[in-house]
This record gives sequence, C-alpha cells and structure tokens, in this order.
Amino acid sequence: GKGAAMVTAVAYRLAEQHRQMEEILAAFKLSTEQLMQVKDRMRIEMDRGLQKKTNESATVKMLPSFVCGTPDGTEHGDFLALDLGGTNFRVLLVKIRSGKKRSVEMHNKIYAIPEEAMQGTGEELFDHIVSCISDFLDYMGIKGARLPLGFTFSFPCRQTSLDGGVLVTWTKGFNASNCEGHDVPTLLREAIKRREEFDLDVVALVNDTVGTMMTCAYEEPTCEIGLIVGTGSNACYMEEAKNIEMVEGDVGRMCVNMEWGAFGDNGCLDDIRTEFDKIVDDYSLNPNKQRFEKMISGMYLGEIVRNILIDFTRKGFLFRGQISETLKTRGIFKTKFLSQIESDRLALLQVRTILQDLGLNSTCDDSILVKMVCGIVSRRAAQLCGAGMAAVVEKIKENRGLKTLNVAVGVDGTLYKLHPHFSRVMHQTVSELAPNCKVKFLLSEDGSGKGAALISAVGVRLREAKAK
Ligand code: BGC
Ligand code: MG
Repeated sequence: GKGAAMVTAVAYRLAEQHRQMEEILAAFKLSTEQLMQVKDRMRIEMDRGLQKKTNESATVKMLPSFVCGTPDGTEHGDFLALDLGGTNFRVLLVKIRSGKKRSVEMHNKIYAIPEEAMQGTGEELFDHIVSCISDFLDYMGIKGARLPLGFTFSFPCRQTSLDGGVLVTWTKGFNASNCEGHDVPTLLREAIKRREEFDLDVVALVNDTVGTMMTCAYEEPTCEIGLIVGTGSNACYMEEAKNIEMVEGDVGRMCVNMEWGAFGDNGCLDDIRTEFDKIVDDYSLNPNKQRFEKMISGMYLGEIVRNILIDFTRKGFLFRGQISETLKTRGIFKTKFLSQIESDRLALLQVRTILQDLGLNSTCDDSILVKMVCGIVSRRAAQLCGAGMAAVVEKIKENRGLKTLNVAVGVDGTLYKLHPHFSRVMHQTVSELAPNCKVKFLLSEDGSGKGAALISAVGVRLREAKAK
C-alpha cells in the first residue's frame, strides 16, 4: 500500500544519503600505499632542503639550529626563558644544577597574547612581550639580575648562529607586520631598549621542537628527535653535519629544524588534499602555506571538521538542513572539543550535550555523525604525522648505516597530549611504515622552556670558551 511505498522511499533516501557521505569521507581514508608515498615524498623534500642547490626553492626548509649535541649533565646556572608561539605565552625562570644534585627547577607565569598583538605591528607585539617579562621579573623579585635568556620562538627562523635568526614567515595565528625578514633577538632587544627599564642578555634562539628534544635528551640520551603536534606541527632531529650543506663544516651532527609544516606547499600532496583542506587553507591567515600543518595540527583540524559539517548540512544530512550562526563561526571547534567528542568513555548523550553547549542543536543521529567525522579527520592527521616521522627515522637509520635503529622522540603539543587516539594511531603508523626502526615516544613536560634554558647554558659556555 501507500505506507509501504513511503517507507521504501525513506529507506532509499537514507541509503542514498549514506552513500554520498561515504563518498565524501572516502577522500580522508588513506591506504598504506598512500601513506608510504607520503613518507617517500617527505624524504625527497628533506633532501631538497638539505642541499645547497635546491635549498632556495625547497618547501621543507631544514633549518640549521646550531645546536650540535644533546645535554651532557654539566649544564648549570640560572636562566630566563620565553616561550612564544604555542597555545600560551610563558615567561620562565629556570635553575639548572649539575653534578650529583642534578636538577632543574622552574618558575613560570602564563600571559595572554591578545589577537590585536598577534596581528598588529611588530613593535606592539614585542612591546607586549617585554611588558610581560617586566611583570614576571617583578613577580619573581629579580629585576636587577641580568640573567642569560633563551628565547623559544616557535616559528621558522633562518639562523646563522645560536643567538641569531631571521623570521622566514609567520605561521599559525600570528601575522604581525615588520617582523618577517628581521632578526628576532634584535626585535626583542629593541623593545627592551624602548622600555628603558631593565636589560637582558639573549643567548639562544630556539625552535620549540629543538627545546623539546633537548629536554627529553636530558633524561634519555637516545632522544635525537623532537616533535610538536599542538597548535602547529613540526619536527627536528640530529642530522650529520656533512649532509647540512647550508652550514660549513663536516664533522659531527647538528639539530635540524625541519619546518615540516610547509611540506606540500609545492603541490606534492595535491592528490591527497581534499576540497575541505583547500577551503581551510584559502580562509587561513597564510593561504598556500603550511599545507601539511593544516592537515595535522590543532589549529586546523576543527576547521576541517566544521567545513565538512557545513557541507553535510547543506546537503540535508545534518542538523535538519539548518546552517546555524554557530556552525558558520570560524574556530569554534578547538582541540579540546575534538578530544572530548572522541573520548570512548563518552555516551552519545554527552556528545549531544557538548554540541548543545556550542549552540548546535543536534539529534542523536547528528551526534553520531559528528563524532564519526571528527574521528576520520583526526585519524588521517595522526597517520600523516606518522608518515612524516617514518621518513625521519629512516633517514637517521640510513645516515648511520644501520640495519635497525633504536631512537627516542621527545613530543609535546596539545593535540598529542589531549586527544584520546592521536598518539596511538601515530605510533602504529610509524611502526608500520618504518618496520626496522624501534621508536620510543617520550612525553615532554614543559619541554620548550626547559630546553631553551639547557641550550642557553651551552651558549654561555661556548661564549666563555671563546672569550678565553
Ligand atoms: C612553526 C614551527 C613550530 C610549529 C609547532 C609551526 O607553525 O612553523 O616553527 O615548531 O608550528 O609549534
Ligand atoms: Mg656541512
């Protein structure tokens, strides 16, 4: 009768919707073969960054850090550290003791960087940073002390020494004017001069990946890789000096800040980028840049999810076809949200509550679908990150002519730390794609601040040796 025909029609429509959704989401599901290709391409881009004749046009810049060894336990002294470029801006006082009572004591304070400061003029940004330092020095009661300072600055810098480096390009949420192309410690020193209140001695400019690696290496000497999966994503590792053609000298090793976030900026990942990746890229602060980072890191995953949900809603698969103002709002899905939604301990009703809290009125079916979309996007991110890491460990293995490599990676970043599945999927991918490497992942606690202090200690020692 008529009823049965209607039921059939509804069933048919649902099946058809399901097919269409599957088709859209299929683009996010990468086969092992595709991941192998990503690994191989990363390796090609690494070599292009390392070699003099291709460095200029290379997208993965492989920037020298001038950190030539991991800590040996003799580092000591009191240091200031700044940590700029992640979720928070922090100022730290780090006291390192060597010898039998080897220890690191840290005091720190977190400061907000308002969006106006991130995207205004460089002077405004650095004046704000210096006012935070001033507050911290007062707070700790050390304004008169002229301590050496390590600056963890989590952006690509072309360094020419441990304490100097030019900002290549802003990434993530930063876009302050008059900074790109300038020496970062100089920008800081100038702001300190403008304030006429205290003096500081910048001894090291440090990428967060390098700081993280150094912190973990302090406890675990096999740690020769640093990885960040937070607001942004990047990796560093100990490379043979002879392979780093951009720096004179063939002896020993130096840590290379890969800047792998820019992988794909030459189009080499176009076959796996989806229409949603392209939308997120187009509407970002830095279109056409950091394409790999935009498929992996916390600042962008929520945006990919949001754009898929918009598309599904437009097609009538979600939210009764109603695109709310909330759904149109950029940046609503923070890392914390993805992590909560995907938690296995969460009942469907709780997923619904989370969506409701965001202002998204969802049915049970909506909640299931949203959770599925989050899962697919974060899984791809973890796999891509694993493919990149597999390229790194295989490169180290090859450098050293080893059949098997044992190595540890120091990791930091909100996505890696908070997400319920990211780390597991990433680890699995690395062991699948680099079966001859035994890779241990170490969580770094307060990695970049401590690391900057450890590197500063080396910097001070080198300077004193030079002065003699
Ligand atoms: C920056 C890197 C940084 C990474 C993680 C990227 O956007 O280019 O320098 O290491 O974010 O913070
Ligand atoms: Mg060299």
